Amino acid sequence: MPLQIVHHPDYDAGFAVNHRFPMSKYPLLMEALSARGLAGSDALNMPEPAPASWLKLAHAAFYVDQVIACEVPAKVEREIGFPVGPRVSLRAQLATGGTVLAARLALLNGIACNTAGGSHHARRAQGAGFCTFNDVAVASLVLLAEGAVQNILIVDLDVHQGDGTADILGDEPRAFTFSMHGERNYPVRKIASDLDIALPDGTGDAAYLERLSGLLPKLSARARWDIVFYNAGVDVHAEDRLGRLSLSNEGLRARDDTVIRHFRALDAPVCGVIGGGYATDVAALAARHAILFEVASRYA
Ligand SMILES: [Zn+2]
Repeated sequence: MPLQIVHHPDYDAGFAVNHRFPMSKYPLLMEALSARGLAGSDALNMPEPAPASWLKLAHAAFYVDQVIACEVPAKVEREIGFPVGPRVSLRAQLATGGTVLAARLALLNGIACNTAGGSHHARRAQGAGFCTFNDVAVASLVLLAEGAVQNILIVDLDVHQGDGTADILGDEPRAFTFSMHGERNYPVRKIASDLDIALPDGTGDAAYLERLSGLLPKLSARARWDIVFYNAGVDVHAEDRLGRLSLSNEGLRARDDTVIRHFRALDAPVCGVIGGGYATDVAALAARHAILFEVASRYA
C-alpha cells in the first residue's frame, strides 16, 4: 500500500500571494506530490472538519466557539497573524481533523502524513504565530480519550519552539513533548516542553544531525511509544525567510530519514505533519515540504 496522505483542498484559505503567510504552498505541495507519483487515489484521504467536542479537549471552550463563529477578538487575530474569517476557520478545523485522521491511519499502517498541521503555537486559550488550533495536541487528546493509545511522543523539529503544545500538554503525563528549535527565534517567551533543545543561529546539517542522532535513543528509552507525532517544519532550511538555521535539502532529507527510521525500527507508528516553512519562492518551499513525504513513502 502506498503512503497514506491526508489532504483537503480547503487547507488553502486563499490568501493574497504577497501575504507573509505563504498559503499557496498547500496546493503547490500537492502538485509536487503528484509529480513524484505519491498522490494517487489509493494514497489520498480527505478529512472532515474536527468537531467542537474534539477541539475543546485541547482548547478553552470560549476560544473554540469564537473561532467557529468567526468572532475572534482583534487582539488575538493580531497574535495569530491573520483575521479568522470563514475560510481560515474552516481551514483550522480541517487541518485538525486531518491530523486526527493521519494519526488513525498511522496506527493502522505504521506511518501516515498530513499535508498541513504542526500548528504548535496555538495555546489552550488562544491561537498565535500563524496557528489557530493546535492539531497535534487535539489529536493526542482525542486518541488518549478514546483509549487508542497510552503513551505519546511529540518530536517537534520545526525551527520555532513548540510553546503551544507545551502549554496544552504540560499537565498530561501520557504525552511527552520534545522540541528542538532555534534559540533566538520566535516565540520570545517559550513555554517549557518536557525536553527543549535550543540551537544557535546558523546551525548546519552536520551539527544538527549529530545533535538529533544523540537525542533519539534517549527519547525511545523513556517509554514504549504508542504513536510519535513528527512535526517536520522546513523552516530550519538555510533559505527560509524566518528560520536562522542553515540546513540544506539533503540535510532535511537526512533529518526526516533519521527520525522515521529510528521509530519505525522500534515499530512505533509515526504521524507526520508539515509544520512551518516560509519563502517567497513558494515552489521551492513546497519541494522542501515534499521531502517528508518522499522519505515517509519508503517506510510505508
Ligand atoms: Zn516554525
